[in-house]
Amino acid sequence: MSHPLFLSKMDSDIFAPVVDEIERGKRFLVVSHVNPEGDAVGSLLGLALALRGIGKDVVAFLEDEVPDVCRFLPGSGTIVHSLDGVEPVDCTFAVDCGQIERLGEDFVRFNGRGRLVNLDHHKTNDEFGDINIVLPGASAAGEIVYDLLKAARIPINADVATNLYVAIHTDTGSFRYASATPEAFRKAGELVSLGADPWDVSRNVYESYPAKRFEALSMVLSTLETVSEGRIAVLKVTLDMLKKVGGGKDIVDGFVNYARAIKGVEVGVLFRECGPDEYKVSLRSKGNIDVSGVAKSFGGGGHPHASGFNISGEFGEVKQKVLDALRKAIKEGLRS
Ligand code: 5GP
Ligand code: MN
Repeated sequence: MSHPLFLSKMDSDIFAPVVDEIERGKRFLVVSHVNPEGDAVGSLLGLALALRGIGKDVVAFLEDEVPDVCRFLPGSGTIVHSLDGVEPVDCTFAVDCGQIERLGEDFVRFNGRGRLVNLDHHKTNDEFGDINIVLPGASAAGEIVYDLLKAARIPINADVATNLYVAIHTDTGSFRYASATPEAFRKAGELVSLGADPWDVSRNVYESYPAKRFEALSMVLSTLETVSEGRIAVLKVTLDMLKKVGGGKDIVDGFVNYARAIKGVEVGVLFRECGPDEYKVSLRSKGNIDVSGVAKSFGGGGHPHASGFNISGEFGEVKQKVLDALRKAIKEGLRS
């Protein structure tokens, strides 16, 4: 095959065992992580719709609700949130997820998953699949799904293209991050020529926020503090704030970026209260600090510039522990 955007032969070979699974299987399950965002939903639906397009029977599962901003995605109404009563499948694809537990309790309990294919770009991936395609150089799991569809010669229609475009667009921060490689731009460009509509995507993802997101933002920004000579900026979201604005946890998605956006800040941190003495911590780096190492040391994971984890304890103690770990990482980063 001599498509100009096609992978080199060596790269395409890595998909051969996965292509075999697709050819052999009839029934598939496609799953992604809890707290799903654009790449999780886009890569999951892109793959699910493409497989349905070649006549496969596909169950698309996410433990959590689809975030509001992803509901416009073609196929989003076909996602199920329970695997109760689902018949066994020949093969399961896990996309954009580094740890099996992050696929949700329902999936971990599910006995009928068949061969498990792990398609991911997190360098903290545990390689939990029977087949593992983990490519940290890929900007998004959506890019890997794109490569797989090309390798398997599965057509990409406008609905599939829209999902994969959203996956790449959101995970590269609208093509702003270091992950916005020439490959990411090339693939996004081809997805646009296949029917993804950039303005329609932007309108839905970035220009359709509920007003309560901004009510929450004003409360969250009022918690801003900078520490370590302005190198670390901290934000906090409480359950009380979410209750006041009447929003779910996805209403504050991305707020941590405001902490990182301050001049001089190397790491932005957001603590989101998710229960009594329970916090979800989001880390964003813009210097040479690899926050995935810090997240991993707390049992989480992610990317060098965007990672997260859950932690329990009294807020003051939790914050101290996290800031100590970040200060240490910054010191080590400055030495290297
Ligand atoms: P966020 O801060 O937006 O929740 O997540 C940022 C990045 O870190 C994403 O790539 C996400 O998949 C990863 N991440 C967030 N929380 C966790 C976690 O608890 N465990 C692992 N392994 N990765 C996480
Ligand atoms: Mn991703």
